[in-house]
Amino acid sequence: MLLRSPLTALRGVGPKRAALLREAGCETVEQLLWNVPQGYEDRSSGSRVVDLEGPGPVTLVGRLRKVRTVRLRGRRSMVRAELLDSSGCLPVVWFNRPYLARQVDAQAEYLLHGQARTGRGGALELLNPSCERTDRLAEQGRWTSLYRSLAPGLGPALVRELVRRALLLVEESWKKRSGGNPAADPLPRSLLERYRLPTLHDSLIALHRPKDDADGEALNNRSTPYHERLIYGELLALQLRLAMRRREVRSIRGYRYRGNEVVTTIREALPFRLTAAQERVTAEILQDLHRPAPMRRLLQGDVGCGKTVVAVLAMAEALASGHQVALMAPTQLLAAQHHAVLCRWLGERWRIALLTGSTHSASALRERLRGAEIDLAVGTHALFQDSVDLPRLALVVIDEQHRFGVGQRQALLDKGARSDLLVMTATPIPRSLALTNYGDLDISLLDELPPGRRPVVTELVAASRRDEILSRLRAAAEAGEQGYVVYPLIEESDAVSAAAVEKEGRRVQQALGGVASAILHGRMAVDRRLEIVRAFAAGELRVLIATTVIEVGVDIPKASWMVIESAERFGLSQLHQLRGRVGRGGQEACCMALYGKSSLSQLGDEARHRLERFASTTDGFEIAEADLALRGPGDLAGTRQAGGAALKVADLVEDRQWLERATKDSRWLLDHAEKETLTLLMSPPSI
Ligand code: ADP
Ligand code: MG
Repeated sequence: MLLRSPLTALRGVGPKRAALLREAGCETVEQLLWNVPQGYEDRSSGSRVVDLEGPGPVTLVGRLRKVRTVRLRGRRSMVRAELLDSSGCLPVVWFNRPYLARQVDAQAEYLLHGQARTGRGGALELLNPSCERTDRLAEQGRWTSLYRSLAPGLGPALVRELVRRALLLVEESWKKRSGGNPAADPLPRSLLERYRLPTLHDSLIALHRPKDDADGEALNNRSTPYHERLIYGELLALQLRLAMRRREVRSIRGYRYRGNEVVTTIREALPFRLTAAQERVTAEILQDLHRPAPMRRLLQGDVGCGKTVVAVLAMAEALASGHQVALMAPTQLLAAQHHAVLCRWLGERWRIALLTGSTHSASALRERLRGAEIDLAVGTHALFQDSVDLPRLALVVIDEQHRFGVGQRQALLDKGARSDLLVMTATPIPRSLALTNYGDLDISLLDELPPGRRPVVTELVAASRRDEILSRLRAAAEAGEQGYVVYPLIEESDAVSAAAVEKEGRRVQQALGGVASAILHGRMAVDRRLEIVRAFAAGELRVLIATTVIEVGVDIPKASWMVIESAERFGLSQLHQLRGRVGRGGQEACCMALYGKSSLSQLGDEARHRLERFASTTDGFEIAEADLALRGPGDLAGTRQAGGAALKVADLVEDRQWLERATKDSRWLLDHAEKETLTLLMSPPSI
């Protein structure tokens, strides 16, 4: 099938360009054609400079004049010009495209597509637009397709040209083979008919070269049936791969578990009664373990709902069956905390060790792990270095899984496909992401907090009122309460910001007067960090002034105060995680989010929205959905990303309905479709 031909079949694609294209996810003609235009310009009613009303995406046609290069600091430069059309002129700015200054032909007409923004002095200007000569555009009809740049060296003009050649090639062969009929679609006819979808062939043609009477609004909203065919196809490929992986796992014989009395004994010795949700989820996990196939389960539950104890019971079941168990946490602090808790609950019966990047006699410890002298290894990702060998490892638990990549989870599974895997996350996962990034896992939901928990009272406060907040914190601390002051830090290893935190921290300490407090950040020696956390947990320290090292997992039930500095610099989910550190013992708790402007309205829209959302709900699910929506459909790290791959057409938020359908249909297809069809359907658009 021609769509599967390598791109080197096109004139103008040699080995070098083919390599570039491969980097950008295009190896075959089909993969290239899946890069449909990001928008369409109606040439019959083109916009003009005078009609521009404000910032936003815009397409304009005109001549470029006053083109000049402006040197910036370093070796960077910027090109400035003016776009002139029949109605007026508009400043244009390009960063780091010095060659433009040389290439622009003053006589030629150009098509510019990009973002208009408010420049210095308040006037509109066009920022980094794509720029193509109109006499070189392939299209002659009403619509001009606007392509996005695939990579440096693969700009819109080149993509347009390659697409044009690819379409020629493909159309010719289709005509020859089927006498003008659209080539067979790999999607079974029943599915195409059910959703009234056009064929792949028609869709690719219609999207790259819309007919003159096409609906411009639908084209630009990605809502034509042609878009839907591609969106559905792309999501189906993704879900088929996941469904396939699930099925493969089910055919593996895993480790054997016995169903152990000890687990009941441990459960009965707990200092609290499990909630109904904890009971239910524990049962789900034990059932998985007792099945022949390995467990692949995600335990999802909001901050503070008590995931640890569920994991402890699962681990006890494995240990009592004579297996080795590993528990991985994203930070040394959290690993150490888990180690302490596990020693308390399981330490009498089993041998437990802590292995992190700063473990002192690590090689001796690795030796003991290899000799299976350790039953339960707790640690950071240091646990999964190649040098670590766990010969009887049957159960792997990963805490705060969202801190690890999808890739890391897979790497871990590659180490032991037979192992049972329990991953836990406190970030509730919006359904769309659960279906894609976690589609190969079964999901258990802890949807109940331990009894007596009260929502943390959250206030947004201008940083100018810091003194007042600190004196309230001081009064609370003097009355015996405990709390955190948290600073944002880009990189935990960053020496500069660590120094800033120390300096700011000392100022806070002064404001707190005689209250016992300490500063904590990731640049400190681990022993020192652990000692500080211990002293805080023991109540010897009243206030902890910390960076986000305390963000995940830290469980100090008595803490009831949190001040977050520069809260506008945190993401929504991160704020929620932070807030989850207080009020864990059922007491009244509060969180003061300080922002660096004198009023909320001075923050950017996005930041203000984020903070208002944070203050208005303590429901982790709402927070997660809002986070995803706020980050927006264009965000590559968010909704256009699935299972580590970038989606070309589909958007996980906007195309949720198609995602649900694809998920359902993928299971049906796996049972009913021919192997060849499956291969066709699964083979990449996006990978
Ligand atoms: P997370 O789900 O955020 O990991 P943890 O497992 O750290 O939460 O539990 C939070 C706190 O709640 C811990 O101090 C834990 O001992 C306590 N806890 C867990 N389950 C219960 C329960 N059923 N009743 C009372 N307290 C509980
Ligand atoms: Mg936890």
